[in-house]
Amino acid sequence: MQTIPAQQSGVCCWQQQLREAITDPVRLAERLQLPAPWAQQMLAAAASFPLRVPEAYLQRIKPGDPQDPLLLQVLPQAQELDRPAGYVTDPLGEGDANPHQGVIHKYRGRLLLIVSGGCAINCRYCFRRHFPYGDNQLGSESWQQALRYLRKHTDVEEVILSGGDPLATSDQRLGAMIDDLERLSHLKRLRIHTRLPIVIPDRVTPALTQRLAHSRLHTLLVTHINHPNEIDGEVRAALARLAASNTRLLNQSVLLKGINDKVSILKSLSEALFDCGVMPYYLHLMDPVAGAAHFDIGDQASRELVGKLAAELPGYLVPQLVREQAGAEAKVPLAPLIPGASGTP
Ligand code: SF4
Repeated sequence: MQTIPAQQSGVCCWQQQLREAITDPVRLAERLQLPAPWAQQMLAAAASFPLRVPEAYLQRIKPGDPQDPLLLQVLPQAQELDRPAGYVTDPLGEGDANPHQGVIHKYRGRLLLIVSGGCAINCRYCFRRHFPYGDNQLGSESWQQALRYLRKHTDVEEVILSGGDPLATSDQRLGAMIDDLERLSHLKRLRIHTRLPIVIPDRVTPALTQRLAHSRLHTLLVTHINHPNEIDGEVRAALARLAASNTRLLNQSVLLKGINDKVSILKSLSEALFDCGVMPYYLHLMDPVAGAAHFDIGDQASRELVGKLAAELPGYLVPQLVREQAGAEAKVPLAPLIPGASGTP
């Protein structure tokens, strides 16, 4: 087992930032100089899905601007209490693909492990905002059970570490998990879905990058960035450290009303990602999760938007517009409506 030297773990820094994240809506309103009525709206919505935002992310939010696109991703809002038809607590039917605690097996050849129930930030549109993390913890016994499941499923070539945020777990625990996974000879790829390098860039420690660099598995890290303002100098440096660790970097975004539903924003995002060595991968339609309907812009507007984006950028910078559908064997792509193409309104 490859152990990670404690002095390289950067543990004080990023874990302290996690602990000190703002969770009190009133404190957030004060910290960002938001007008008083916002605090009342926050309180009602935060009772159903807690506020959580660390200082490193707050520093990218413009004080006094209730429409700041980063603020809107984390700010509890009164509309979250609406319950329009079709918006449910388990929009992707993950409860039906959960053979063991901490294991989600939806797609052929790939298996997802819920490494951590915690996140550095609580995104208001999260499709797992109602996920029963308490029933899906990978403790030592359930981890062994997950490994037994993987040993039996030799068709699985790729393991996806997810959550919550898998990087909310310590470098030591992550390193031990990767050690166990590397011993399964049928595994070829390790994919990590995380928002932590964006939210707290100090999370990309030397210990983490060294462990990824020395894995026998092909490693991919999928970041989650929705708006170009999320990428500052610290984030660029963290992504450069990851890229130097022989890890391929992809990004997925969620298309969110009032946050990134403009061609100019998506174009800047793709260009900024590319500059950091990250390829735009997926642009997800909002999953119909209860509490987040106000972020949904609908299929037609999404297809038109991506069509206009495709007219502005080379194809490799245009993320694929997809919907995740309960029961489907893969993500469902939606064709962009290209301006001027026959059949396009
Ligand atoms: S970091 Fe990811 S899993 Fe966590 S709340 Fe945000 S979208 Fe959901």
